[in-house]
Amino acid sequence: MVKIFIDPGHGGTDTGAKANGLLEKSLTLAISLRIRDFLMDYENVQVKMSRETDKTVTLKQRTDMANSWKADYLLSIHINAGGGEGYEDYIYTSPSKASVANQNILHAEVIKQTGMVDRGKKRRNFHMVRESNMPAILTENGFIDHRNDAANLSRSSFIEKIGLGHVNGLVQIFGLKKKVPSTPERKLTGMKPNWADWQWQEAEETFKKARDKGILNSDVWEKKAADKNLTFDELEFLNLVLSGRAL
Ligand SMILES: [Zn+2]
Repeated sequence: MVKIFIDPGHGGTDTGAKANGLLEKSLTLAISLRIRDFLMDYENVQVKMSRETDKTVTLKQRTDMANSWKADYLLSIHINAGGGEGYEDYIYTSPSKASVANQNILHAEVIKQTGMVDRGKKRRNFHMVRESNMPAILTENGFIDHRNDAANLSRSSFIEKIGLGHVNGLVQIFGLKKKVPSTPERKLTGMKPNWADWQWQEAEETFKKARDKGILNSDVWEKKAADKNLTFDELEFLNLVLSGRAL
């Protein structure tokens, strides 16, 4: 079992940096929750967070928590400020070999996913990376007071990308395997979806295209869609047609 400790920077009375209508403590929590949720799709991984809500936690409490839980890796999530643009991350000034190796992987993945300006892999004597007994990294995910970074950080799709970058790094570092997807809900068998007219028309159009391109060889499916007579099972087929081919 791999134990990942996620530390959303700041919280409660400590807002962290603020600018452009954004608060660091809220962004770090949003990113951390995405990382946690993405990790739930993987086998043999446990997550503990220093906070899951907007509350005050001291630095010592944070590292104490990670140490007593015996985490395998600590991620401390922050947003930068003070003039600059892009992403950087920090490990301790005299880091373990694992910290260095993990930083190389995680750094590359966050840059790859987010396309942020790369400010480099850095080392500093921060509490979170010094007082933790396990390999640790502190990531600074963009500048809250830079126009481009702030615009990105205010979009949930970008928060997702930051989360995914961290998770892709963790997947490589620990060789995490995706859970086998559970079988789809069969209890809907035979039921018809409660679709709006335009959705039925889109379905009809999709099947028409599939026939025009020779993927299907009859107009049975178009008729079913036009008659609003597709079941959930048949929709699985529609999804296959949609996902497998460029229509
Ligand atoms: Zn911070």
